[in-house]
Amino acid sequence: MWLEKQPLTEVLISKKELAQKVEQLGDQITRYYRGKELFLVIILKGSLVFAADLMRCLDLPVTIDFMSISSYGNGSISSGDIKIVKDLAADIGGKDVLIVEDIIDSGNTLAKLQSILQKRHPNSLKICTLLDKPSRRQVDMQVDFCGFTIEDKFVVGYGLDFAEQYRHLPFIGVLNG
Ligand code: 5GP
Ligand code: MG
Repeated sequence: MWLEKQPLTEVLISKKELAQKVEQLGDQITRYYRGKELFLVIILKGSLVFAADLMRCLDLPVTIDFMSISSYGNGSISSGDIKIVKDLAADIGGKDVLIVEDIIDSGNTLAKLQSILQKRHPNSLKICTLLDKPSRRQVDMQVDFCGFTIEDKFVVGYGLDFAEQYRHLPFIGVLNG
């Protein structure tokens, strides 16, 4: 089997644990935004799988749009110097916006994105991330909704890639470095 030959050292978060956590996050977000309409900004490509599952756990009126950004940096830490590869088609002015991210590492990418989106005057702008690696943080940032806090390991699966591979794995695995 293909999967058995891959350099994955462990399953960090199983398919079942992911499903349970996403449901909890969905409940938490539903309670928080009750009575409002929510606009999800889904960050491609890594958040695709998470967002697809999460939105189905929201008992709210929801609309979605996508953004694709690339970050430049030297080595393994992003610099926060980001380029918008694909922008939102919708205007977020006056809307309650929730950014859906796969993982926050240094925080540089998201900090920059937040400041770009804030200038478009949403009614509110919050962050939901599936994974957080706080030990790597370089900027102060409030994460409003977080699935799992993880150690400093390079993970793949459930949307997250290594060289565009492994996004389709139904679990989060650690890639041996
Ligand atoms: P930051 O600007 O927070 O350092 O960068 C966050 C981005 O780096 C994430 O959106 C993701 O694309 C990438 N990244 C950070 N840590 C990991 C990891 O453990 N695995 C994968 N696949 N990508 C990661
Ligand atoms: Mg990403």
